[in-house]
Amino acid sequence: MSAKSGHCRHYAYEGRMICRAGVDIGKVHGNALACLPNPKRPCDQREEFTAEEVEAENVRWKAIFERMVLCLAALPGAMPGTSGHIDCPACKTGRIDYVFSPGNGHCHARCTTPECFEMHQ
Ligand SMILES: [Zn+2]
Repeated sequence: MSAKSGHCRHYAYEGRMICRAGVDIGKVHGNALACLPNPKRPCDQREEFTAEEVEAENVRWKAIFERMVLCLAALPGAMPGTSGHIDCPACKTGRIDYVFSPGNGHCHARCTTPECFEMHQ
């Protein structure tokens, strides 16, 4: 979870219900409700993200959204079974490689610049 979600900062669920604070979520709480935003009965290990962390996450997601809008507008219309590449309008240094599935026309696209733009629709 991230600062934006409102979950406890320790929340983790990767195959086992053990959070980053070492709490066995299933054993102690029965479920993960204590980890969610605004829990009725918060865990005594619960720690919220700081306002600065939340703001940094909001800024990061705003930038991701802005890059996504630029890239989606630059991609050609869906033509199932086609592929190609375009110069990336977001980072202006990378290249977006894209492919439209021949079956359903879904698009997979990714900029060559790490962390710039990627979609699987
Ligand atoms: Zn890019």
